[in-house]
Amino acid sequence: MKLYKNDQHFLVDKRVLDRIIEYGDLKSCDVVLEIGAGYGNLTELLVKRAGKVIAVEMDPVLAAQIKRSHNLEIVVGDALKIDFPRFNKVISNLPYSISSPVTFKLLGCKFDFGILMYQLEFAKRMVAVPGSKDYGRLSITVQYYADVEILEVVPPGAFSAPPEVSSAIVKLIPHPPPYIVKDETFFMRFLIAVFSQRRKTIKNAIVNNSGLLGIKDNAIGAISDEILRKRAEVLSPRELAELADILYDVKI
Ligand code: SAM
Repeated sequence: MKLYKNDQHFLVDKRVLDRIIEYGDLKSCDVVLEIGAGYGNLTELLVKRAGKVIAVEMDPVLAAQIKRSHNLEIVVGDALKIDFPRFNKVISNLPYSISSPVTFKLLGCKFDFGILMYQLEFAKRMVAVPGSKDYGRLSITVQYYADVEILEVVPPGAFSAPPEVSSAIVKLIPHPPPYIVKDETFFMRFLIAVFSQRRKTIKNAIVNNSGLLGIKDNAIGAISDEILRKRAEVLSPRELAELADILYDVKI
């Protein structure tokens, strides 16, 4: 296999492939979406256990190599551009260059759970908690839509060609938002503002980004001094949501 464009690191370690299938807990009623099927090494195992598998692969040369099966539908296309069909599980060794947009596209769908391979650094940011160095916008936004857990770390040697970094298998279980914000777009903008200056106090981060947020400098008067002295990275998602709501109310 000599095509290494488009994140083409193929998972060749049979033990890791088997564990992904175990984590998927597949039943004959399952409809599985696989994104970035490559030449079908994982697909071949999925079709043996699931009722139906929909394998999306952008590279037509690779897609043509996937072993056909009566319960397999192959979609040759870009996972970010196609409409996802209905599925109840998503199991994939994802193309890492689209980790973020494809995850948020998935989180806009209704499904039971996902077993997904990411770069380890990205996975750590997804699961991070307040006060840790990896905690930030990605942790808050992913955890808003889903419970997220690292199931195992996978070394580069499990792939051909080996990527430069370690990977991680992550379980995503969608859940209803644990808190409600007044305006999701404003909340996302607020997170960009406060985490773009994560070493600064909340006060400075808000004042420095008043233009982006569409607020007056004195809008921080609505927030307690105790909170203003803290940094965003120590506040919980819910506390940050409350802050965003306060500022949303005093927007220009
Ligand atoms: N599933 C295989 C495996 O486990 O070995 C291949 C995984 S490889 C990391 C990612 C695959 O995603 C590649 O085959 C690549 O061609 C494909 N790919 C990259 N970007 C894509 C996109 N936007 N939509 C669909 N497939 C994509």
